[in-house]
Amino acid sequence: VTRTFDVIVVGAGSAGIPLATRVVENTGRSVLLIEAGRSFNAVHEFPRDVLNARTYAPMLPGNPSNWSLTANLTDAITAPVARGKIVGGSSSINGMIYLRGTRSDFDGWAKLGNTGWGYEDVLPYFAKSESDRDFPDAEHHGSTGPMPVTRGLHGPRHSTTEALFGACEALGFPFVEDKNAPDTSGYGFLPLNVSEGVRVNTALAYLMRGRELGGLTIQPESLVHRVVIRDGRVAGVDVEQHGRMEFIGAEEVVLCAGALKSPQILMLSGIGPADELAKHGITVVQDAAGVGRGMADHPELFACYAPDGDTTQAPGSRIVEASLSFGSSITGADDDLEIIAMPGPFAKALKPDLSGATPAELMRRGVGAGAALARTSPSLLWRQVKRRNDLVLAMTVMQHDEHRGTVDLRSADPHDAPVIHYHYLETERDMVRARDGLSVALDIMRTAPFSRLVKARTAPGDGFERLTRAEQDGWIRSSLATAFHSCRSARMGLPDDPESVVDDRCRVYGVEGLRVADTSIFPTPISRGPHATAVMVGERVADFL
Ligand SMILES: Cc1cc2nc3c(=O)[nH]c(=O)nc-3n(C[C@H](O)[C@H](O)[C@H](O)COP(=O)(O)OP(=O)(O)OC[C@H]3O[C@@H](n4cnc5c(N)ncnc54)[C@H](O)[C@@H]3O)c2cc1C
Repeated sequence: VTRTFDVIVVGAGSAGIPLATRVVENTGRSVLLIEAGRSFNAVHEFPRDVLNARTYAPMLPGNPSNWSLTANLTDAITAPVARGKIVGGSSSINGMIYLRGTRSDFDGWAKLGNTGWGYEDVLPYFAKSESDRDFPDAEHHGSTGPMPVTRGLHGPRHSTTEALFGACEALGFPFVEDKNAPDTSGYGFLPLNVSEGVRVNTALAYLMRGRELGGLTIQPESLVHRVVIRDGRVAGVDVEQHGRMEFIGAEEVVLCAGALKSPQILMLSGIGPADELAKHGITVVQDAAGVGRGMADHPELFACYAPDGDTTQAPGSRIVEASLSFGSSITGADDDLEIIAMPGPFAKALKPDLSGATPAELMRRGVGAGAALARTSPSLLWRQVKRRNDLVLAMTVMQHDEHRGTVDLRSADPHDAPVIHYHYLETERDMVRARDGLSVALDIMRTAPFSRLVKARTAPGDGFERLTRAEQDGWIRSSLATAFHSCRSARMGLPDDPESVVDDRCRVYGVEGLRVADTSIFPTPISRGPHATAVMVGERVADFL
């Protein structure tokens, strides 16, 4: 007997969970939410490292909550790429920064022809998703939504937060009280989806609120192989659970598998660039040139410093607390750069249960942190951590780069990871952004508030300022990391754009009953991390069903 649902949502991540729960609440339709990773019925059943807001451990390759993908950042750098493989998706393993995209990001989406996606259109969905504990009465905030949003306004502050504020003031940047307010260029506290020391992923926020969600069925540990399409219309999905294949029928299917997996499922279903599908012997259902093309992400660079004295985090403080957003010399006013000052030590953040251990001890105890980090994008940090107990990091994130990446099939086997190329720093404008960002980060660290806190810069090395431009660019290229902010791999746009994959209701062009709703549909990358915007997309698209 074929099981049938009104709606199947593929991927219980940042967008998929809000979408599935709202469709059940709003319409009473039956919804099946399929997730490749594990699911849990109660908070205490989640893995400790997923709950603990003071660790980044799940982003390490090999962690059971992580897909542990690999990508080429440039032709010369291959790096592991973290993605959540667990209920909550990447929100279960991420950095917890809950910053909205800016007014100009969304007005830019609307200007491209995406009706209903301008700033004023999406604002109610950001508000609906959150309970902002610091500004509950502000017009642009919500106070009763599922995602708790908090800032370090009242708790103990890390010395690097004080130093970042002092440095930004000295350099003339404006202070922003609420970085989720409409116009937020400048420095201030980061809003985080953290409550009582817990990383509040979308599963905890939306599924465990003690509400009746009778129409919702969650099927974990199940890999969707493909969407089944008959005569141009969705029929259901082929899914594998514990080695057993099943066809499940549905009126509508929504892909929320994230920017690296939704394009893979589309291609395995016969929707993608015809030449790419032909290479793998997949019958073309819809020749869609934009699937897996034009992907964007945020490259990042770390400047590292040895602290002068103890920078141990105060109990109750967060791994990250504050940031500066500003425009490069390319865009002027628009924020295309962000700097976050992180208190080290990174190794302790990764393995909090080993805090106090020296890096050598970490290696000896065989916890795998050394081996796992050695080939990660923060490998630079690991080299530093091996030599020193502690680091203060100035992390620069390039938000609006022109690079456009690709997500291709490795094979027609759904178990194979996709082949991912970011093509970072291939244009001169992207290089200018990287140089500008690094230069402001180094300036910040030279100001009095930081000179009191750090004694030496450990990367880039001492002589960096005396290097030629070409040599400095060489350091930038070789030190590049990724922020894991992939988007735009099945983008929303007008039908006359050959690379648009979905329309402004997120319906896949040429296939009835199929939508994509995750960061894949971003028409352009945004000036902030994509997490809050992914949740907003889930909330927004739920209203279309
Ligand atoms: C380590 C890390 C740190 C980050 N830090 C931040 C941050 O601090 N701030 C910020 O704004 N952004 C951050 N991001 C980015 C942000 O978390 C993601 O952009 C966002 O969570 C993506 O949401 P999504 O719904 O598109 O996909 P996801 O949340 O990744 O959800 C996709 C879901 O689909 C499931 N899935 C995939 N394929 C299949 C299949 N074939 N069958 C069944 N299920 C499938 C996955 O297991 C996953 O649960 C970070 C990301 C990572 C990985």
